[in-house]
Amino acid sequence: MINLEVPKKAKALVNQARQAATEVFRPISRKYDRAEHAYPSELDMLAALLDGLNTSGEGGAGAAGVRRGDDDKGGNRNGGNLLTVLGTIELCWGDVALLLSMPRQGLGNAAIASVANDEQLARFGKLWAAMAITEPDCGSDSAAITTTATKDGDDYVLNGEKIFVTSGERADAVVVWATLDRTQGRAAIKSFVVEKGTPGFEVVRLEHKLGIRASDTAVLRFDNCRVPAQNLLGTPDIDTKKGFAGVMQTFDNTRPLVAAMAIGVARAALEETRGLLAEAGVEVDYDKPVNAQHAAAATFLRLEADYEAAYLLTLESAWMADNRKPNSLEASMAKAKAGRTVVDVTLRCVELAGTLGYTEDSLLEKWARDAKILDIFEGTQQIQQLIVARKLLGKSSKDLK
Ligand SMILES: Cc1cc2nc3c(=O)[nH]c(=O)nc-3n(C[C@H](O)[C@H](O)[C@H](O)COP(=O)(O)OP(=O)(O)OC[C@H]3O[C@@H](n4cnc5c(N)ncnc54)[C@H](O)[C@@H]3O)c2cc1C
Repeated sequence: MINLEVPKKAKALVNQARQAATEVFRPISRKYDRAEHAYPSELDMLAALLDGLNTSGEGGAGAAGVRRGDDDKGGNRNGGNLLTVLGTIELCWGDVALLLSMPRQGLGNAAIASVANDEQLARFGKLWAAMAITEPDCGSDSAAITTTATKDGDDYVLNGEKIFVTSGERADAVVVWATLDRTQGRAAIKSFVVEKGTPGFEVVRLEHKLGIRASDTAVLRFDNCRVPAQNLLGTPDIDTKKGFAGVMQTFDNTRPLVAAMAIGVARAALEETRGLLAEAGVEVDYDKPVNAQHAAAATFLRLEADYEAAYLLTLESAWMADNRKPNSLEASMAKAKAGRTVVDVTLRCVELAGTLGYTEDSLLEKWARDAKILDIFEGTQQIQQLIVARKLLGKSSKDLK
């Protein structure tokens, strides 16, 4: 039986994350939304605290990722994925862009934690790692990657351009997806750790964005960039039967995390709006049918129901990862539901709050701007739905595009 109550052992972590969100993130949330591209130095101390949580094996509150060990003894376990999801929800209640700016909590860190061997983990585990998949001509269809990695002696030589890389400027390293051989399709796509300062690796520019402005988003160029062969994560073998399995495994861990980010932002907007409705004398009554309530209360109840569904799907997908159950379907379901929900909830909350919701006097307008990316990166809404449909109908990516 799956028990989706928050486990007792998560309470301390959830409380700590909530405290950090309240005392560190919220007070500087507006400041760094306005000061796009300025590094929030207030995060350094908090990052050190998170490092402690992650090395204690208690899971963290960022995108640290979770390692699959060989110690599976079966039975129900609430492990690192669930704890990280719960911590992420709390911190994103504070500010999602600041979470994305946390040192050493990049999506590249999740990739390293998930697929690196022990030697690589020792070398890269302490770095802050961004993740670079997207290219000018390749977004949703990540099999179309054109960045190449050519073996030359004991090195790989990388050539290509990556766009929209979160923490691409601030991170110490980037996990770069590149193909070993374009003629062999998706099976030839591998990920490589490229450290800052490696000759041939250049940050070209930063983007100006609608939301998550505190987070830097960079264009990167690799021009004959040479990395040791040992920087390839996973196996260098091109196994056309397994296809994308190696690199795609990362998504099973990271999609629940992005869903958790969406849950945190949605919860923030709902809490704020509940307070405003109460101030306006609108009562939300859980015992009365919605059609007998104020229209604003009826809308609020519908939003909360969506929020709950997204929340439970997210916990389920993380719980499955912890319990070694294949969770690609559930991770995509959670990401799709939570991404759609956070966009709807935050915009409706702006609407319910009237003019206040549209001004910078409240954070509601910021959350509405921050929400959209959560329905885009780590696979858009449409792509998640495509994955869910393929899994449910038993179709391959060739059958259903
Ligand atoms: C702020 C920000 C941060 C990001 N951070 C990162 C990062 O750290 N690393 C990284 O690698 N990338 C990152 N991205 C890129 C992001 O992952 C891509 O934008 C996303 O995957 C979509 O790719 P695309 O923009 O090329 O859109 P496209 O793939 O061109 O899609 C355009 C539209 O068509 C839809 N569509 C595409 N294919 C189908 C289909 N088969 N069926 C139905 N609809 C379809 C899409 O859902 C979308 O609505 C980031 C993007 C942003 C905006």
